[in-house]
Amino acid sequence: MEHTNLIKATLVSEQQIKQRIAELGKQITADYKGRRPIVIGVLKGAWIYLADLLREVDLDVDVDFMSVSSYGSGTSTSGTITIVKDLSVDVTGRDVLIVEDIVDSGLTLARLKDLMRDRNAKSVEISTLLSKPSRRKVEVDVKYIGFEIPDEFVIGYGLDFDEKYRTLRDICVLAEEAYK
Ligand code: 5GP
Repeated sequence: MEHTNLIKATLVSEQQIKQRIAELGKQITADYKGRRPIVIGVLKGAWIYLADLLREVDLDVDVDFMSVSSYGSGTSTSGTITIVKDLSVDVTGRDVLIVEDIVDSGLTLARLKDLMRDRNAKSVEISTLLSKPSRRKVEVDVKYIGFEIPDEFVIGYGLDFDEKYRTLRDICVLAEEAYK
């Protein structure tokens, strides 16, 4: 792959990811026993995580995807999201599990959670592979977290920089030279 010299370090290895996803899959299976949740993947970053997670979940599920763009508004904690691709299923009365790659400010997920509630979902929970707690601007309750990580820009396992690096097997820290 091009530009691999811009990868500073491995933060979470493929093996660690696999092991943690197996644990999360068991937990989700137990928590939703007897129910059929709608699992919503947030594009594009979450697709690899969603694929691996659901193969560790022993339940019938419906799967759908959303794509959103976030626009922060300067220093304010408010922000809006624009729906680039909406769901093709109705979430009314359904148990919704949103699957995201990383929670940073929390704005995207806070808005998505509100949106699902406005659409009368019966329950809304979130799973994120990564969380940067030190970056939070709004509190958002995330039930299933893979790893809490420091404030570093990460790539790999679905996460990109300029559409590159998504297929790296580990989660890595991008060298600052890449975006300076
Ligand atoms: P939030 O609304 O929580 O601030 O934004 C979450 C989104 O920001 C993620 O879905 C992701 O697209 C992007 N993001 C935040 N931190 C990182 C990071 O370290 N690496 C990459 N590739 N994307 C990030």
